[in-house]
Amino acid sequence: MKIGIDLGGSHVAVGIVENGKIQKHLEKDIVEKRQIENVLVEDILNLIKALLDNNKLEENIEKIGISAPGIIHNDTIVKASNLNLYNFNLISKLKENYPKTEINIRNDGKCAAVAEKKYGSMQNYSDCIFMNIGTGIGGAVFLNYKLLEPKKSSGFEIGHMVIQKDGKLCTCGKKGCFEAYCSIKALKNQVLEVLGKEENITGKELWNLLKYNDKNEKIENLLDEYAENLATGISNLIDIFEPEIICFGGSFIHYELWIMERLMKKLQEPNRMFSRSKFPQMSMAVLKNEAGIIGAVE
Ligand SMILES: [Zn+2]
Repeated sequence: MKIGIDLGGSHVAVGIVENGKIQKHLEKDIVEKRQIENVLVEDILNLIKALLDNNKLEENIEKIGISAPGIIHNDTIVKASNLNLYNFNLISKLKENYPKTEINIRNDGKCAAVAEKKYGSMQNYSDCIFMNIGTGIGGAVFLNYKLLEPKKSSGFEIGHMVIQKDGKLCTCGKKGCFEAYCSIKALKNQVLEVLGKEENITGKELWNLLKYNDKNEKIENLLDEYAENLATGISNLIDIFEPEIICFGGSFIHYELWIMERLMKKLQEPNRMFSRSKFPQMSMAVLKNEAGIIGAVE
């Protein structure tokens, strides 16, 4: 049996996966972030045990895969600031309880990409780019059906390519990064600024603000500007990788209605791209919340 673990910013989910489908799953909110290392290990072990007990399954686990946020290197969570985790080797902790089980860990964006490549909207394409747009922008690239994996760090940090010299300050410390303009968090901040609102809002509230302000000229201009920045980043990626398809994941998929038409128009403007190869397909991720658990065991 294969068990996938999805470590989110505020919850941990554990599922039994068979042939790319989650058979059973359980999840728990992460409330306590002090001493999170111990809390997390305990939560994961309890969830696995409950999952097996509830379904009267014997403990016969051949593989455990973990999807985790942040920078993962050498099986270690080097930095996951949302979870307050730094230089934490979760695998060695789980190995104490499952010494004979194969255990892997991979960045959540890469897990989602792998799942979407094998079972989702990218499965029939050889050269693909997966863009996970949410709080930040993560990416993964497949060429000739293979995920490109750099040796030294997680790689394909497309959110941190600079699209504006001396531009907005990014959380990474650089200026003008793609995600400082085009993450959903950035979009949310831009909408609040234009509407003169100061409070923090949920994704659902942002959706409503866009829906009920669709004739608002300031919002229209803002969305055009957002699409313009997105087109700049994406046209760079198309010129470098010549993908057959670009698949969008993360909370971005909820805002397709306001963004995709504008984006396509911008991308098709003359002199937008050097590449004269066939224009790639654009698709939304279809596995949604399940992608982390499914991709973790692949
Ligand atoms: Zn950055």
